[in-house]
Amino acid sequence: MPRYEFRCRTCASTFEVDRPMSAASDPADCPAGHDDTVKLLTTVGLSGRARTATPPAMAPAGGGGGCCGGGCCG
Ligand SMILES: [Zn+2]
Repeated sequence: MPRYEFRCRTCASTFEVDRPMSAASDPADCPAGHDDTVKLLTTVGLSGRARTATPPAMAPAGGGGGCCGGGCCG
């Protein structure tokens, strides 16, 4: 079950809530009982996608295929 982090705007504390993704946008109450909370961006699933300046060089696949050797190219 994904974990979401909330921050209470009343007491400025942060807390985590485990809930299904279907309830991700539901409001969460602060453990202290406040309901003026905001959901923080979670890092779960977002890490490891650092931007790279240059895309990885992918050589086009070719040669070694059986097409042109199998008679389908003429
Ligand atoms: Zn609070």
